[in-house]
Amino acid sequence: MPPVTRYAVHPIAERLARELDGDVRFDPMTRELFSTDASNYRIVPTGVVFPKHDDDVRRIVDLTARDQIALLPRGGGTSLAGQAVGEAVVIDFSKYMNRVLDVNIEEAWARVQPGVVLDNFNSFLQSTGFMFGPDVSPSAQATLGGMVGNNSCGSRSIRYGKMVDHVLELRGVLESGSAFTFGQLSDDGLAASLRRDDELARIIHAVNDLAVTHHEEIDKRFPKIQRRVAGYNLDELGLRNGFNLAGLLVGSEGTLAVNTEARVQLVRKPAHAVLGVCHFDTFSDSMHASAPITALAPHAIELSDKLLIDLARASAIHRDKLHFVHGNPEALLIVEFAGETFEQLMKKLDELSTLMGDLGYGDNVVRVIEPVQCADVWTVRKAGLGLFGSVKGDAKPVAFVEDTAVAPEQLPAFTAAFREVLDRHNVRAAFYGHASVGCLHVRPMLDLRKADGVRKYRAIAEEITELALKFGGTHSGEHGEGLARSEFNQQVFGETLYAAFREVKTAFDPHGRMNPGKKVDAPPMDENLRYGAIYAELIQTLAGGSTLDEETAGALAKRLEAARAQVHADGLPQGRQRQRAR
Ligand SMILES: Cc1cc2nc3c(=O)[nH]c(=O)nc-3n(C[C@H](O)[C@H](O)[C@H](O)COP(=O)(O)OP(=O)(O)OC[C@H]3O[C@@H](n4cnc5c(N)ncnc54)[C@H](O)[C@@H]3O)c2cc1C
Repeated sequence: MPPVTRYAVHPIAERLARELDGDVRFDPMTRELFSTDASNYRIVPTGVVFPKHDDDVRRIVDLTARDQIALLPRGGGTSLAGQAVGEAVVIDFSKYMNRVLDVNIEEAWARVQPGVVLDNFNSFLQSTGFMFGPDVSPSAQATLGGMVGNNSCGSRSIRYGKMVDHVLELRGVLESGSAFTFGQLSDDGLAASLRRDDELARIIHAVNDLAVTHHEEIDKRFPKIQRRVAGYNLDELGLRNGFNLAGLLVGSEGTLAVNTEARVQLVRKPAHAVLGVCHFDTFSDSMHASAPITALAPHAIELSDKLLIDLARASAIHRDKLHFVHGNPEALLIVEFAGETFEQLMKKLDELSTLMGDLGYGDNVVRVIEPVQCADVWTVRKAGLGLFGSVKGDAKPVAFVEDTAVAPEQLPAFTAAFREVLDRHNVRAAFYGHASVGCLHVRPMLDLRKADGVRKYRAIAEEITELALKFGGTHSGEHGEGLARSEFNQQVFGETLYAAFREVKTAFDPHGRMNPGKKVDAPPMDENLRYGAIYAELIQTLAGGSTLDEETAGALAKRLEAARAQVHADGLPQGRQRQRAR
């Protein structure tokens, strides 16, 4: 039996430690470590458990039911919108439940546990000639369970789509403790399920009724673009030759059930890939060029703006990899072609050059054909977020309106209108992302430790959500809603569908225990901030009740940050850390 922690903790910790084969950690340090993900939010969880197998997961769900304790399944914790933090018992799948269970090459599928990291999965598949299609940037940390939870995808989504296009079957545990397996049901299978009188049949009934009753509203409100992950996937039911509840669980951010296994489709790995890096004198030109390039059937079209290029130039690690940047472009579109023969790809690069010439951009394509050099390009592109963190000054590029998506043809007008909003708030921003599918990661520079920064955080989010809707797009095209965007789901989907989403939630999770406050009934997006609220409170404590001017408060905040960084680096016990930080 794993050791019980020596801290005064929630009484459930003892029971869990007695019953589980996996680890139970309710100590302050572990809770602090799991209080953040890659977002702007921080909520200290009740505790963290690390199940070793399906039975452990069932026990966790059962044991926490009596006291109605909330649960939050978690993978790599790389979510950008706060869906992996909450006041709940966090179930970490990355430590033990991280195995590939079965691979069937003839039928091109694999069965995996949720904690399998994407890079490890692809390494496992290396000798088979197959790979997994969706390719999130943090592939060394993100898990298949988290990718299912967020309906993730990546640079090559124009070719491979989103997770929902690759999940064939999901197994797991409902909030009630019942096990489920959701896969494709034929019409007869659906009819037979509806005749049964059990919990699963009741869920299928409820969800099927909602999809049928609201089909017109679903058709009207779900944007007609490839990149949309907001809400519950009611539009997926009945698609792909049958009814599959797995499609509804994909993208549900752990709010409906705990998944313990997925059967996923594999794709054939292309033999070769080359890149054409298009250089533009203006950002607007790059936006105008994106949609026409999609006609050449590329595997990716990635945007990098000048800020990203400049930051890479200033970085000792990335400077040497910038052989693909010629001169001083305002924006780049990195276009990937992949296929079975090298000749076919060289022809594609010729077509790209011709297209750029026809569009009036001249000979602006730098060809990158050596695999090592292609890898350099992707390394710099994937380093985007880390590089943005190195921006000097208090305002940093912040992720909160970084997930809008519109049809690629709308990008020129949409990005121009986006910039107008930012200009009105006197805020600069970094632009990069997946131009191929109209999903750009725009990160306005804000200081979320200041009231003014937090005010702009909300104001810009409200205006950009409205703008995305006006352009027939979405506020969430890839990263999900979490705490940053769930608040807007009622506005985005309207009263009727929002009420339907609530019914979906209740059908699966009648006691509201599964990752509460995400997707529906979310707190305001400017609450639970990692810095804002905590800083105001701590600085006030430091000031001993006296009123501080902004400059003094800022200086105190910096000292506090430095002290926190120092104590974390020292690795001292939590009590001692607090003392020193003070
Ligand atoms: C630098 C950076 C770049 C990124 N680039 C991309 C990108 O290119 N494409 C993209 O799509 N995303 C991207 N993301 C967002 C994020 O990496 C992805 O959403 C990723 O798939 C999350 O995986 P994870 O294992 O970290 O999941 P987590 O963050 O741990 O969890 C994600 C969600 O899934 C739920 N969940 C996890 N496991 C389970 C389970 N077993 N059962 C039920 N629910 C579960 C969680 O509750 C949570 O709501 C990026 C993030 C960062 C920080």
